[in-house]
Amino acid sequence: LSKEEMKSLGYKIVDAIVDHHLTQDKKLPVAVGTRAEMDSIFLEEAPEKGMDAQKVLEFVLKNVMANSTLLSHPKAYSFVPGPSNYVSVMADALATGFNVFSGGWSASPAAAELEIITIQWLLKIFGFPKKKGGGIFTSGGSMANLTALTTARNIKCGKDFSKAVIYLSDQAHSSNIKAIRVIGFREEQVRIIPTDSEFNFPINKLKNAIAKDRLAGLQPFCLIGTAGTTNTGTVDPLTELAAICKKEDIWFHIDGAYGGAAILAPKGKTALKGIEKADSVTIDPHKWLYQPYEMGCLLVRNHKHLSHTFTEKPEYLRDVEGNTSEINFYDLGIQLTRRFRALKFYMSIKTYGLQSFRDAIAYNMDLAEQLEEQMRKSSLWEIVHPATLAIINFRYNPIGKNYSAKKLDKLNQYISEKVVSSQKALLVTTILNNQIVLRMCLINPRTTLADVQETLELCEAFAAEADK
Ligand code: PLP
Repeated sequence: LSKEEMKSLGYKIVDAIVDHHLTQDKKLPVAVGTRAEMDSIFLEEAPEKGMDAQKVLEFVLKNVMANSTLLSHPKAYSFVPGPSNYVSVMADALATGFNVFSGGWSASPAAAELEIITIQWLLKIFGFPKKKGGGIFTSGGSMANLTALTTARNIKCGKDFSKAVIYLSDQAHSSNIKAIRVIGFREEQVRIIPTDSEFNFPINKLKNAIAKDRLAGLQPFCLIGTAGTTNTGTVDPLTELAAICKKEDIWFHIDGAYGGAAILAPKGKTALKGIEKADSVTIDPHKWLYQPYEMGCLLVRNHKHLSHTFTEKPEYLRDVEGNTSEINFYDLGIQLTRRFRALKFYMSIKTYGLQSFRDAIAYNMDLAEQLEEQMRKSSLWEIVHPATLAIINFRYNPIGKNYSAKKLDKLNQYISEKVVSSQKALLVTTILNNQIVLRMCLINPRTTLADVQETLELCEAFAAEADK
């Protein structure tokens, strides 16, 4: 491309991104499309001959972006939404534009330094030791959990982990189970502790399981606590779990991918008390720290645990080792070639200030509480699990109708399906205590109480239709 063509393409992309950021709240958040419909738009052989970049861009804007669900939309309530921010988007464009290699010191001292600095900001926020502690940015929470559990296995078990046992609750995120499988544990080495009817981690069941395993000559080596479960936002009893781990010499990993960011708000800080006692914590800036995908993070109490686990010294990297005060992030995790994730975090915190993040997170938690208060006044809605770290679970269950459990499940599933296919809100179900319930994860600072009310009215209209 000529200089003019390059600029023109770039400006058009920036225009499209800015327009999207300014208008997305008015768009339909949900994209629906079958494989056949997508094939009919995109399926073709790799073209031998290129075409005008502007035409490719137009086609992409029309067909790709318009057929993608907007996880940053104020009415995207499901899974864990991704309320991104514009400065970080531009930072990502910059990092990609310069194709900065963020693996090692010699490739970019500044990228390595920015990762060190931003990890130090996070260590302080989470109450981890600033000098001894460390961490690494990853593609997301799943990769951070995998990095943590690989480290825990290495530090606590060394090479022989045939007798090692790992503990987690039935509400822990599925990425932990995936990670456990990836690092080679058999099913019989995993204890999934059932939570109580309110999804609290039962300390006694854990203690009993550990004692039983010790008696059987096994090696309890790692406990995964969750700081904000994906289903209900529940925080495990972190202080008590930390005490058990200390006494039993067990690695305490906390998966705070969903809820960790709440520590920036006063109520969240109280809820997360004890998180500072972990050996490792997963947080996920592409969730509640408002970063665009992909950005996860693992913090560790002792940075040496990462380098002991992941350092390899192949002959082809011998010239880039640097001196001992320089950190090569490829020695702290799985990836060698790494994108420059720290930049977006750095630029967004510098631009908006940490206080803006604190305010936004506090707003999100308050919004969930306000919604709960409102729903409790309504005769149509039942709160199944109260507002917890900005997640709320509820179902349509009008007082006086006395619907059967089966009918309630069917009705709430129907509401969700109708809402999603209307494309007006992303509101899917989960299962709590064998009941199908609706779940809202309210971490978007642009979501208002009015947005949520409109969505509930939409649900009520579909429910009335089903009830006819
Ligand atoms: N852990 C928890 C508690 C989560 O909620 C999630 C995602 O929702 C993950 C881990 C996985 O994170 P990611 O999707 O960034 O890989």
